[in-house]
Formats: sequence, structure tokens, C-alpha cells
Amino acid sequence: MSTPSEFTFQAEIKQLLHLLSHSLYQNREIAIRELISNASDALDKFRHITLTNSEVANDAPLEITLEQNEADNVLVIRDNGIGMTRDELIKNLGTIAHSGSLEFLKTATQSSPESANNLSLIGQFGVGFYSAFMLAEKVEVLSRSYQSDEGHRWESDGSGRFTVEPQADLNRGTQIRLHLKEDLKEFAQPWRLKSVLKQYSTFVPHPIKLGDEVVNEQKPIWVEPKSNVTDEQYQKFFEHLAHGAGDKPLWHLHLSSDSPFQFHTILYCPDSNIERMGFGRVEHGLQLCAKRILVQHNCRELLPEYLRFLYGLVDSADLPLNVSREALQDNTVFRKIKKVLTKKVLSHLQSLATEKPDDYLTFYRQFGITLREGLHADFEHREEVAGLLRFPTTASPIETADKTEPLTGFADYLKRAPEGQKQIYFLGGPDRKSLEQNPNLELFRRKKLEVLLVTDPIDEFVLGNLRNYQDKDIVAIDSAQVELPPTTDADQAEEAQTQAAQTAVAESSGFQRVLELLRTELGSDVQEVRASQRLTEAVCCLVNAEGSMSAQLQKVLATGDREFNAPKKIFELNPSAPLTTRLTALADNSANDSFIQQCGRQLFANALLLEGLPLDPSQMVSRVQGFMLEAAEKRA
Ligand code: ADP
Repeated sequence: MSTPSEFTFQAEIKQLLHLLSHSLYQNREIAIRELISNASDALDKFRHITLTNSEVANDAPLEITLEQNEADNVLVIRDNGIGMTRDELIKNLGTIAHSGSLEFLKTATQSSPESANNLSLIGQFGVGFYSAFMLAEKVEVLSRSYQSDEGHRWESDGSGRFTVEPQADLNRGTQIRLHLKEDLKEFAQPWRLKSVLKQYSTFVPHPIKLGDEVVNEQKPIWVEPKSNVTDEQYQKFFEHLAHGAGDKPLWHLHLSSDSPFQFHTILYCPDSNIERMGFGRVEHGLQLCAKRILVQHNCRELLPEYLRFLYGLVDSADLPLNVSREALQDNTVFRKIKKVLTKKVLSHLQSLATEKPDDYLTFYRQFGITLREGLHADFEHREEVAGLLRFPTTASPIETADKTEPLTGFADYLKRAPEGQKQIYFLGGPDRKSLEQNPNLELFRRKKLEVLLVTDPIDEFVLGNLRNYQDKDIVAIDSAQVELPPTTDADQAEEAQTQAAQTAVAESSGFQRVLELLRTELGSDVQEVRASQRLTEAVCCLVNAEGSMSAQLQKVLATGDREFNAPKKIFELNPSAPLTTRLTALADNSANDSFIQQCGRQLFANALLLEGLPLDPSQMVSRVQGFMLEAAEKRA
């Protein structure tokens, strides 16, 4: 039985190829960048094998060669790297490794008119090879693996099928033969190729030859003193590392150290967080070099996970060249580098926040969501990470001209806090507008105490878990643990007056009767019904009992788990609100009992609604209609 030689692409690839040739045709040069980058990876892999396996010898200089044949419009990209076996050709060039890639590219190109920009992200998604079909109507891949004496030829016109046949007389490595599309002949011309290579491939760490000429610099700028590196070089190096993820880095960090161990590094922060754009978890790491030679491509263990969005390169002369990945991670130098990098990045962010707060907020809006993971993942740096968090607060306007809410960190919050304030206050809610209406804020407004407003349930979870920052407890203002700072004498006198009036009403038999009626009505739905000392305007509010979780958090848990039983809340009634006064008067007559109870039930429902907590709509609808009927009957 002969082995099959014709195959169909995985369905995703068909769609991808369609997308590439129809929607994403600007900026075709990036296909060359991707193919060169693959060739460079293949060379790195081969070199690593020769360093770790004494049976494989490196016979010739590792290099990438470009040949163009203007007569038949063919462009060849050749490397003498690791090569591919027949099985590898079928697997690597017939499926997409990252399953989220296609979906992401599809939505990205639909939603943004600048599809070229999204396209430049293509190398991020493990689909770089297929960009060859943006340039070529037919692609041949001739390859022989270092492990095999037999070579193979893969071929496809990108329409859905590919073939793989044996091919004699191949050297080790891979040749990509692009049969250029009719209108793209220019890519077979040296001047055009040269400009593309200068644009995209300056930092490829292997010689790229066009004929006999080496066209890339391969300059290790990270070992240079900062003053010798130009802005353009930094920019180009970023583009090389990030495969075009983002236009310009938000910032970079170039560090060198000689003791206690030697290393150089350049780290870049891209300008957007692709995890926020819907693409799954970022999986790239840093490039790791030992004495300028790349030992590991996507080294993810050099930075903690919560800094995974950074691109960069680390080069240390103290790392062995010829060790396995696993042994490398056990290496003490390796662990020390990670520690130093983490410290440096966090302190860089701290100075950015102090020196250029606007730039810091730009960064935070993109990466704050990833950074905050550090709070529970990295106990050692918890306080530093906490200091980098930012939230909207009652001190900031709801809407600003440029639609970006100003954000505040703990340090600035505490600077503004009055003397004697022992806690950091926050309140969670579904959105800023509902938060503004939350009765729990009343007291804090009156006392001019700033409250952090949190609309992201995860942020609320984070704050609840953080518990304190620089010895100040962090508390949700709808919880019973709230402690208020002592007030001034004048305020105190005024307060005492209001308080006395409130207490007088609260102790009246009519109000006590109302509370009693509400207790029977609400029964086990609440933990307690009591007179409120915090409200002056709103009729009622819900308060969390000591030690129980906040409303938002309960909501998060309730959506995830049907069995979840939310802890019961305390229902507080404001004795001096007009509605309460009227109910108190009505309480003298027992004929009104049921009406008062219906009102209590509805007030409870209103409070749940405001906090976005679940309630039974059917009962509420008939109750409200009952009230409407009663009111309507009283009208002339
Ligand atoms: P990625 O490079 O991101 O994995 P690609 O679609 O560009 O995605 O390539 C798929 C796979 O094909 C690579 O992971 C690699 O294993 C293999 N490959 C591509 N080009 C070469 C090459 N020149 N030499 C050896 N293997 C290659």
C-alpha cells in the first residue's frame, strides 16, 4: 500500500487562507518577515541540538539565504536549520497550533478598518507560515530534517489541499519557494527585497544573505551602553521581538549589571494588551541568550506571570549554553535574574506613576488587569503591586471630556484623607451610575470622605482580599466593619442634634411598630431589621453583617454557583425619611398593618434592585400594580 501524498487542510486553515488573500492584503511584506523568522527559529533549534547532543555536528555556518529568479518569478528563502520530516511537514503546515488564532483574526479584521495593523500581529498566533500565500499563488516547501536522509517536497496553491512527495538531493534544512503572484513580481527584485529586509530583519541573529551580501546587521544592542543606542534601534528591536504587536512600545527598560552576576536586558511594554482584545492568554516569553547566543525563544520563567505582557531579551554570560530547559530553570543565576527583573520592572512602574502619571494611567488601562494578578501570585511584592493599583473614586467626575475616568491609587487617596481616617473605603456596584445612587454613600458624602468606586467584580474581590495597605484596613462601606474618623467639634454638635432627633423618632412606639411589622414580613429573608443611623435622605439600605462579603462579590458567586446561598443582610430603615414618617403615623391603626408590610417588602425589593441582586419579579409586579390601583382610586 502506498502512503497518501495528497491532504486537505484543517478547516480553520482554509478560512485563514481565505482571510489572508481576500481581506488582509495590505502590508504584504510581513510575509517575508514571518518566513525569515521561521528560518531563524529553525537555525536556533539546530544550534541548540548541536550544543546539547554531541552526535549531531554543525558542518557549515548557519545562515539564511534568499535567492530570486526574476525570469520565473520565484523567490526562495533557504535555511540550513533543523528541517522537517514528512510527518512534521504534514502536521506543522496543515494545522494551526493555537486554536484561538483564527477567531481572533476574524473578529479583529471585521471590527477594525485598519486590518493591516491587526494582520501585522499574525506572527503572534502561530500562523506566520500561511502568510506566504499573500505573496504567492503557489508555495513549495522543500525540507530535510537533521534526523533523516530523506527529503520531501510540500506543495499547495492555498485553495484547500496540499501534497507531500519524496524529494531527492536535498541538504539539511528548509527552502520555501514562493511562486509570486502576477502583480507582485517586485518581490523577486533585489532592491525591493533589500528594503524589506532592512525594515524587518535587522535584528535576526543569523546572517541573511542576498546573493553573497549579508544584509542584516545582527547587532546585539543590548550589550551596548544606553547612550550608544538610537531611538530607531530601540524601535526596530522591539518590532523584531514583538512581531509587530503594537506600533510603539509604551516604555522600555535597558539594564546591565556585572555583579553579583553578569547580565544585559532590554524589556519593552507594548502599547496594547491583546488579552483585553479577546485573544486568549498571552504566551510569548522573553528571549534568553547566553553570551549573545539565543538559548531559548519564549522563555516564560524569567518574569512572573503577571508581567507576561512584556517583550524582551535577557543575555547572561553566567548561563551555560548547553543545558536543557529543565536544568536551566533550576539554575541559581536564572532564579536571581528573575528576581532582579521583577524588582526593576515594579520600581520602573512606580517611578512612571510618580513622574508621568498620565503615561502611567495609559499603561494601567491596558495592563492593570494583568498586573493585579500579582497581588495573590507574588506575596513578596504584594505591597508594591498594591501601590500600583488604580480606581475611580467619588472624588473624580463621572464623565470627562475624553471619556477616560481619572483613576486614583492608594497613596494619593491616603494623602487626601482627613487625619484620623483609619480605613480605606470602597464600594462595589454594577456601574458608576448605580453606585452614585447607592444609599450607603450618603453618609460618606456628608462627611466628605472619599470612597473608591469599583465596577469590576474582580477588582472588588481583589480589594476585599487585600485587606490592608500600609496599615490601613481596606473595607467595603456596605459592611459593618466601617469605622469613621472622629469629626470636628462643630460637626459633632450638628451631628448630635440630628442623631438625637433620629433617636427620638426611632424610639417612638409608632416606628417600633413599623420595624416589628417589617420583621414579620421579611422574616428570614434578612438577618435583621433596624433603625438606620447612617441615612438622612434615602428611606432604606442594605448592610452586610460583620465579616460577610460585599454585594458584588455575592453576585459573582451567585452566577457561578446555583447552590450558592448569599449571606443575609441587615435591612436599615431611615426613621426620618418622609415615607417612614407617614408609615409611622399609619401604624397606630392595625387596619394598616398589611399595607405597611407590603411597603416594607417593596422597599426591600428596591434595595436589591439597586445593588443588582436577584429577586422574584412576578411578586413585585403584582405588588406595584396593587399600589398603583390604590393610588389611582384616591384620585378624582
Ligand atoms: P509558528 O512559527 O508560530 O509556530 P508557523 O505557521 O509560522 O507558526 O509555523 C508552523 C511550524 O512549522 C513551526 O512551529 C515550525 O515547527 C515549522 N516550520 C516553519 N518554518 C520552518 C522552517 N523554515 N524550518 C523548520 N520548521 C519550520
